[in-house]
Amino acid sequence: MINRRDLLVGGGAAAAAYLAGSFVPLVAQNAPNFGAPSVVQVGYRRQQMGDMEVIALNDGVTRRPLAAEFVRNTPLDQVQALLRSQNLPTDYIDVPYTAFLIVMGNRRVLIDTGFSDNGGPTTGRLVSNLNAAGYKVEDIDTVILSHFHGDHINGVRNKAGQLVFPNAKIMVPTVEYDFWMDDARMAAAPEAMKGAFANVRRVMGGLGADRLVKFVPGTEIIRGANSLKSVAAFGHTPGHTLFVAQSYRFKFAYLADLTNIPQLFARNPDMAVVFDMDAAAAREVRRKVFEMTVQENMTAGGFHFPFPAFGRIEKLGNGYDFKPVA
Ligand SMILES: [Zn+2]
Repeated sequence: MINRRDLLVGGGAAAAAYLAGSFVPLVAQNAPNFGAPSVVQVGYRRQQMGDMEVIALNDGVTRRPLAAEFVRNTPLDQVQALLRSQNLPTDYIDVPYTAFLIVMGNRRVLIDTGFSDNGGPTTGRLVSNLNAAGYKVEDIDTVILSHFHGDHINGVRNKAGQLVFPNAKIMVPTVEYDFWMDDARMAAAPEAMKGAFANVRRVMGGLGADRLVKFVPGTEIIRGANSLKSVAAFGHTPGHTLFVAQSYRFKFAYLADLTNIPQLFARNPDMAVVFDMDAAAAREVRRKVFEMTVQENMTAGGFHFPFPAFGRIEKLGNGYDFKPVA
């Protein structure tokens, strides 16, 4: 993957392809006329894996109308048929948001952050769920961001501009940071994408060297018997990065936005969600990583997976099935 980097984030055609892609708006709002989705009542779930603890922390859910643009490369009736086959509604999609806390020795590492108070009324629950799980915002020593879409980074700062996790270093993939913080690229971006660039500046602006830590995807974040490794999975965004936490034989893979809801994009990994900025690269890495989780017997979690948002990935037909932990 590393040698794809130049291809994916260099100038020219690759960057242009990303800029033509879509973006996640700053504020998540529920679609009018479809009612509000129900937020899970107990929005955290913990699992002991060897010496580490993995805790899913739900930030909320939003509902969007299902229209033709949601899956770019598949006719709407085929998308609806796949939903119907799983007894799911076909006129709207509920997209949940679940980050993960990895507790390893004396480390408390939060991966992705949700919206804080920057989103709509059915988001912003992460901190109360963190508290319910027995931790305070002060306990978090590291926040790692998988990529810079708003639903992943907005929880770093509240609307007033304060850092939500006062003692945490903010770790970001270098490739992702360089893409979004490039002022020339922002200036050249289509009007519809400028908000996403501005939002990255809202969150990252003013983070000093004592706070912000950049890492090259592929490097180890925590070393030793209990380890946390970053894995390049570029495509959804130019620097989209996954994480594998391991303790003894137990492996937990945080898949971030490798797929949007697995009911569509694990079942059919070739489907391209509107948010994939480079759909072809995203599709290729999606199949590769799903295969890895199966081969290496990993527990897998995803930011948009149905709560508790982690479980097993199993082969099914030409795709995969996500089986949440019981
Ligand atoms: Zn995303």
